[in-house]
Amino acid sequence: MRSALFLFLLSLLSSRTHAQPYVPGQSYFGSNNYTEYVAGNMPVILSAPHGGLLSPAAIPDRNCSGCSTVNDFNTQELARALANALHEQTGCWPHLVINRLHRRKLDANRDLPEAADGNPVAGQAWADFHNFLGNAKNDVAFQFGKGFYVDIHGHGHSIQRLELGYLLYSDELRLPDDTLNTPVFTGYSSIKHLVESNPQSLTHADLLRGSQSLGELLADRGYPATPSQSDPAPDTGEDYFSGGYNTARYSSYNGGSIDGVQIECNRTGIRDSLTQVERFADSLAVTLLDYLGRHYFGGLETSFCESSDATQSGVAWMYDVSPNPFCRYFQIRHNDDSADWTAGVYNFYGDLVQFVPVTANIPVQIVPPPGGPVFVVLRRNGEIAAVKTVLSACR
Ligand SMILES: [Zn+2]
Repeated sequence: MRSALFLFLLSLLSSRTHAQPYVPGQSYFGSNNYTEYVAGNMPVILSAPHGGLLSPAAIPDRNCSGCSTVNDFNTQELARALANALHEQTGCWPHLVINRLHRRKLDANRDLPEAADGNPVAGQAWADFHNFLGNAKNDVAFQFGKGFYVDIHGHGHSIQRLELGYLLYSDELRLPDDTLNTPVFTGYSSIKHLVESNPQSLTHADLLRGSQSLGELLADRGYPATPSQSDPAPDTGEDYFSGGYNTARYSSYNGGSIDGVQIECNRTGIRDSLTQVERFADSLAVTLLDYLGRHYFGGLETSFCESSDATQSGVAWMYDVSPNPFCRYFQIRHNDDSADWTAGVYNFYGDLVQFVPVTANIPVQIVPPPGGPVFVVLRRNGEIAAVKTVLSACR
């Protein structure tokens, strides 16, 4: 019985070895191209549910009572610019999921009945959108053990500030810090997991509106936000979006270790022009990396995916060991079909724990023994091509 189980586990491991269908940075589309997934290899997931530009006549306009059909102007553009900025700043790609349908046709931030208003084609796009997001969430949780999700929106409220939605209503945000730190309110929060586990032991209120909150880190860079240290809660009577369907579904509010926030962007200075969009995307990218470094992955020097640069080293091939740090596995790949490559994986004490051939363009997934960093020695035709230290991020 035990050996049967062992063989079964072994077969799972070996079947996992070649199961990596997505190339980071490349786009994959749902049915009819109504949804798009840009594959990622870092612990950040982005979505843009209300920035779609397609209005196919085949799908009737939604006319359910009370349903909004107004798009969030320039938010698809913002999500793409943010993904590109994160890539420029890290060399890694966030996971990005886009609803390409106009909100008249599909609202990808609602449950199915209101989202598609009964239309099966829109319903399929809704299912594709959420399959992409669910898979991205599972992938990040499996690879890194934790991560951060951002649902990107635009609001038309008069006060020109970012509204960060952690699933707490404005009257709840006006409660004292001590009240927000009780389990009742951390239990409502989209950063529930972060409250339970962050390296500085910051409280829920600290993380919502302290000096190191996402809102304050954005305000520091010239983009006022609430909640934040400088604007702890919307005042009575002020409009505020507290986070919607996607934030609840894909954040730690719903369990698991991926936290999240809905960012409702004001228009002035952020979305009026594509120049503003690009500039804000750069600031948001650096802020998110700052935030991840402080609260998740310990320091900005962290690299989530590591690649050799073939153009700099003057050779025609490149390799990639990622993610680094990893949680349960990392992968090794190269694009050199003119040589034989192998990877030796060594534990902290220098014992060889795994030795595998690596075929060009076929990633090999490595599941090392738990605990501590491992060392990967890549050999090309027997000669050492690279030695990499790969850090474990699991706790
Ligand atoms: Zn929206």
